[in-house]
Amino acid sequence: MRETARTAAMAGLGVLVGGIALKTGASHTVWQIDPYKCSWCGLCATACVLQPSAVKCVQIYPMCGYCKLCTGYFEPEPNALNTAAENQLCPTGAIKRRALEDPYFEYSIEEELCIGCAKCVKGCTLFGNGSFHLQIRHDRCVNCNECSIAVVCPAQAISRVPADQPYKFKSREHHA
Ligand code: SF4
Ligand code: SF4
Ligand code: SF4
Repeated sequence: MRETARTAAMAGLGVLVGGIALKTGASHTVWQIDPYKCSWCGLCATACVLQPSAVKCVQIYPMCGYCKLCTGYFEPEPNALNTAAENQLCPTGAIKRRALEDPYFEYSIEEELCIGCAKCVKGCTLFGNGSFHLQIRHDRCVNCNECSIAVVCPAQAISRVPADQPYKFKSREHHA
């Protein structure tokens, strides 16, 4: 079951990459976040010219531990490990928690609700496997001449990348 979920998720990411390559053409560049440089400051939620932001959280399923106590999903010291709003770190309830076979849980992002605040990314990266991270979504981004988030990003994590390789996804193989 877990392998099925992973395969489906990665197929979805492949569709995203293919879509932007077709939309912009291979000779152009677009803005993207290096997830290994991002320091989860929160400015991605507020500095984008779009509201809600073009930045969204993505889940890299092959890196996820499918943890019962997900530190990207739960507030520190939650009252209970359930989906009650008071226990959730995400301010908009954008992370969906679904039970798989015991003791595993799947965590997925409902993108329409995500504002790119990075709270879950910080929790997952500091105390979990680091499978959550932020990306500029090119089906939303208007590819500003100067990305207003890149201007204020304290980690200098945002730069232009080739439009035919518009995402910088984390991977298990990467050693920062
Ligand atoms: S502004 Fe930079 S450091 Fe802050 S959340 Fe966005 S990419 Fe990360
Ligand atoms: S915590 Fe922030 S970045 Fe993570 S899913 Fe919720 S709104 Fe998106
Ligand atoms: S290029 Fe513009 S629309 Fe895209 S993420 Fe940056 S500020 Fe937002």
